[in-house]
Amino acid sequence: MNPRTAAALEIDQDMQAARSAARGIIATANNLRSAGAAALAERAKKVAAVAAEHAGAVDADSRFPREAIAAARAERLLGIAVPLELGGEEAGIGDVVDVCYALGRACASTAMIYAMHQVKVACLVRHGRGSLWYQLLLRRLANEQLLFASSTTEGQSGGDLRNSAAPVVRNGSRISLERQATVISYGEAADAVVTTARRSPDAASSDQVLVTFFKEDYTLERLVGWDAFGMRGTCSEGFKLVASGAAEQILPVSYDKILAQTMMPVAHLYWSAAWTGIAAAAVERARGFVRKAAQRAGGALPPAAAHLTRANASLRTLRGLVASAVRRFETAGADPAALEAIDFQAGMNLLKVNASELAVATVMSAMQTCGLAGYRNDGDFSIGRHLRDILSSPIMINNDRILANVATASLLSGTPDQLTG
Ligand SMILES: Cc1cc2nc3c(=O)[nH]c(=O)nc-3n(C[C@H](O)[C@H](O)[C@H](O)COP(=O)(O)OP(=O)(O)OC[C@H]3O[C@@H](n4cnc5c(N)ncnc54)[C@H](O)[C@@H]3O)c2cc1C
Repeated sequence: MNPRTAAALEIDQDMQAARSAARGIIATANNLRSAGAAALAERAKKVAAVAAEHAGAVDADSRFPREAIAAARAERLLGIAVPLELGGEEAGIGDVVDVCYALGRACASTAMIYAMHQVKVACLVRHGRGSLWYQLLLRRLANEQLLFASSTTEGQSGGDLRNSAAPVVRNGSRISLERQATVISYGEAADAVVTTARRSPDAASSDQVLVTFFKEDYTLERLVGWDAFGMRGTCSEGFKLVASGAAEQILPVSYDKILAQTMMPVAHLYWSAAWTGIAAAAVERARGFVRKAAQRAGGALPPAAAHLTRANASLRTLRGLVASAVRRFETAGADPAALEAIDFQAGMNLLKVNASELAVATVMSAMQTCGLAGYRNDGDFSIGRHLRDILSSPIMINNDRILANVATASLLSGTPDQLTG
């Protein structure tokens, strides 16, 4: 054989071997990933079982779901999104979405608490990773399975995330903050609070920072309790928050970037996942109702079966909506330009509006399926708690406010030429 041909053949064989080794590595990584996802799903299932057992009492007594959060701690679910090198599991957005969904099927308040906690974790992981103080915080979060609360709502400004009244006051290397925090869900149970604030006393209200304070850094004086229609276990009470700490506790990235790149899209993904879980639970009950009615009637479907079909249809759309938004977020990755693009921002904002509307419609269809059995507060087919819980979704950062904010982007964006592109 010609030496050149022999050399070429040898190179070709080497390349084939390298390709097959690479395929092996990818297959192993995929296997490990799916084994990890299956193990995570098992852990979430265990926590969901505890959450489901206490969901009725949590709702009736408007109390913190302590058993479910203790189970989440025991299963180490609170720190899953922390990077591997800081002691976490580096779970992706899709992994956390699946946990929120699983918990939503069991107990809405537990799911929302978990979702709100993970939104804060996502902000700290992405925007605090370069800071030594935040690296230590993330390590603590993973080791001790700490629970993080969120404070954005202040005074009478409702869901206006882009303005803060109370400023951070600096005194050398120390900072302090005193804030009328109208709503801090599970404020008393949390180990830390991540709060918005005006950058300084002379800064504009829209010049904001995000700061983390550990429990030992602050006091909470209750201003208003939480006797709400639904989501009664989130214990979203109002407090006067008086905090002090070190200047490093201010995240090194400005809040407008954190909100656009992480907090808004991730909140809308995790909240939507929790709401999808609530909707799925209501549909399961409706399915049970129709099955039972059909058994009683010798297999004939009751007229209400059409409502079940409608509930199923909107649940499918809702699931698809959230799943495609997860893919969109993953595709944008950590690219600030992609995350801040007008179309991406509009899409992620509208995800919240659409998901909440679909979730409410789904639960309403489930309620109509079950009729009186759904309307009752007792019995296996009661949909009352699900309906009350899901009605929080359009007002949690009011859909009207979001629609008004997205109006300009809607004017600017054109109609795409392709449907699938
Ligand atoms: C279960 C739950 C848990 C929560 N947990 C927390 C928490 O942990 N931390 C926290 O900080 N906050 C929390 N919140 C509060 C939340 O973030 C919002 O601040 C709150 O939902 C806004 O409520 P609002 O209706 O008073 O305010 P607004 O958003 O001001 O809405 C008031 C009214 O004004 C209308 N409106 C407002 N803006 C516009 C507009 N531009 N165009 C047309 N109409 C408009 C709305 O339709 C609504 O009727 C929670 C809320 C819920 C429901």
